[in-house]
Amino acid sequence: MPVKYKDYYQSLGVARTASDAEIKKAFRKLAREFHPDVAKNKKQAEERFKEINEAYEVLGDATKRKKYDELGPNWSSGADFRPPPGWESFREGAGRGARGQEFEFEFGGTGFSDFFEQLFGSRQRGAGGFRRPAGFEGEDLASERGRDIEGDILVTLEEAMHGSVRSVSVRHGVPCEHCGGTGQRARHVCNVCGGSGQVAKTDTHQVKIPPGVIEGQRLRVSGRGEVGMGGGAAGDLYLRVRLAKHPDFEVQEHDLLYQLEIAPWEAVLGANVSVPTLTGRVNIKIPPGTQNGQKLRVRGRGLPQRGGTNGDLIVETRLEVPERVSDSERKLWEQLAKESPFNPRG
Ligand SMILES: [Zn+2]
Repeated sequence: MPVKYKDYYQSLGVARTASDAEIKKAFRKLAREFHPDVAKNKKQAEERFKEINEAYEVLGDATKRKKYDELGPNWSSGADFRPPPGWESFREGAGRGARGQEFEFEFGGTGFSDFFEQLFGSRQRGAGGFRRPAGFEGEDLASERGRDIEGDILVTLEEAMHGSVRSVSVRHGVPCEHCGGTGQRARHVCNVCGGSGQVAKTDTHQVKIPPGVIEGQRLRVSGRGEVGMGGGAAGDLYLRVRLAKHPDFEVQEHDLLYQLEIAPWEAVLGANVSVPTLTGRVNIKIPPGTQNGQKLRVRGRGLPQRGGTNGDLIVETRLEVPERVSDSERKLWEQLAKESPFNPRG
């Protein structure tokens, strides 16, 4: 099954030659507008945000961007796309039905396009392979446990904070009932499955995303993988959590990192400043003598973790200096320069 090509540069509105900094800047600007956690109209923003996040997931990562660029500039958005031969390793050993023919899984509702899943997703990798319960090796060859299938799921920080339930659909191959999966009926090629022994079926599952999920965590949906053969149990569906990039916060395990710009006088004199968290703004105290890059910890304002507590919000200060000053301001700085014994190189 071909997938639709995605033009990630177009999604972020940047040129193919854009620098990493330009890409990051474009993402942050768009994410501020469309991120489901901050956007005013969440529903409308959601589809657009998924597209932006996916684009940044690829273009914001040097290895993935290189791989993407290797596809060449001549693809247009929405064109039917099949990975070129060199990309086969991405789909290694999986998606093959019981009779050896290729059958690709398609996911819906995970927040990633089939194009992304095919080229960069975790689907079909790692979890594949026919597995039997321990102790049954070599026995009962006719009965085989169904294959596990794996995909990515985009989770916003809001969801990681509070948990959510998502509807995920998986389109996969199941044995053709018309011919019993043999591909033949009355010595003729089965006209339902065309001889492959498999037909496509879409299953929709409600997947629970528990509070406190972290990047890379695999959510197991028991028995929702490929069906088993000869009475074997069905495989499992695994969804690997990919946390959506947030315009304000970076995630470090269960902590959230926030960069706070401060003025020189705030750093020297101290200040009370309001900062955002995922659960509303809080006031924090900048102590007098705060340095550039100093980290202030706001306990319990991070993501949930095991044991019922939350990680922290870590506020990292960034000293901003005015680019222009008025005449009267200049006089004050000059007076300060004259009177202060402070020597940063002393
Ligand atoms: Zn059939």
